Amino acid sequence: MTDLADPPRPLADGFGRVHRDLRISVTDRCNFRCTYCMPAEGMDWHPRDELLTFEELTRIATVCVERFGFDSIRLTGGEPTVRAGLAVLVEKLAALPVDLSLTTNGSTLVAQAGPLRDAGLHRMNISLDSLRADRFEALTRRDELPRVLDGIRAAVAAGFEPVKVNVVVVRGVNDDEIVDFARFGRDEGVVVRFIEFMPLDADQRWSHEQVVPSAEITAAIDAVFPTEPVHRGSDPAERHRYLDGQGEIGVIGTVTEPFCSSCDRVRLTADGQLRACLFSTDETDLRSLLRSGATDDDLAAALQTTVAGKWAGHGISNVTFIRPTRSMSEIGG
Ligand code: SAM
Ligand code: SF4
Repeated sequence: MTDLADPPRPLADGFGRVHRDLRISVTDRCNFRCTYCMPAEGMDWHPRDELLTFEELTRIATVCVERFGFDSIRLTGGEPTVRAGLAVLVEKLAALPVDLSLTTNGSTLVAQAGPLRDAGLHRMNISLDSLRADRFEALTRRDELPRVLDGIRAAVAAGFEPVKVNVVVVRGVNDDEIVDFARFGRDEGVVVRFIEFMPLDADQRWSHEQVVPSAEITAAIDAVFPTEPVHRGSDPAERHRYLDGQGEIGVIGTVTEPFCSSCDRVRLTADGQLRACLFSTDETDLRSLLRSGATDDDLAAALQTTVAGKWAGHGISNVTFIRPTRSMSEIGG
């Protein structure tokens, strides 16, 4: 515990960016196999004893909050809801003064949305990349569109506000559904957020040609449902509000409109590796530190060193860009 006389200090990097947002991957496992994320087969899961326990995760989160004033924690994976007892972790983290959110594929929410809400989860993002059953199955390699749609409705019914639906747009795969998704968001009362495809697919098939630029996404929607921009703050999503008052959309232009200069995130993988960036090629082994008797001072120092070494930007469009060896599900999106 931090001495109360010792207020949080900003966790700044060499470019003056202050970090306040912790992304925690609670598992590398997943019940889907989305083509832009995982291979069809052949993932080697981390053995259970390599995953951080709920106590270890809570301890790191507490250091982030008490030492550095973090105000936001997002749980992700793999698929976070396949980790047994997730609500127990939510309850522990909900005791911290943070905005606590979850990113999920939605497949288990009919059963879990209510208990997660009761455990203290504040917000929920649900991934859905096609509204067409055959295409959904081709994309996720699972025939579960009705379950995910029911899951989205269960999240709304449980009182999450707003529920956000994440759509990864891939050229030639689902870019003809952009306006359908806008309509879906308006009809269902959810905020749809379109995400540019990033070079983090396990199959390594990503190419620039498959990226649908965020400006193109916004223009396609604007032509049917006129919008106006909303101030985004440090939100990676560029926000646009419908002029008729029927909600808003978000567009996350990681590739064509990088927001690295305002990045305030650090990421913890399920096996306890701290990453300063989604695209980092190096990590800090917090699990070994935790399990070798590190003090909170030691953990805080490791956080500082990792963030101090953060680069200015991911440089996806540079010829020198090197893909991280871990794919999205192994990092935690
Ligand atoms: N399983 C959960 C889910 O799908 O929401 C959480 C983990 S998933 C890795 C987190 C987010 O990353 C999802 O919104 C997913 O669509 C997105 N994602 C995965 N691979 C991606 C890629 N190559 N480019 C862009 N977004 C990706
Ligand atoms: Fe699983 Fe999420 Fe990756 Fe899809 S995007 S394979 S649901 S971790």
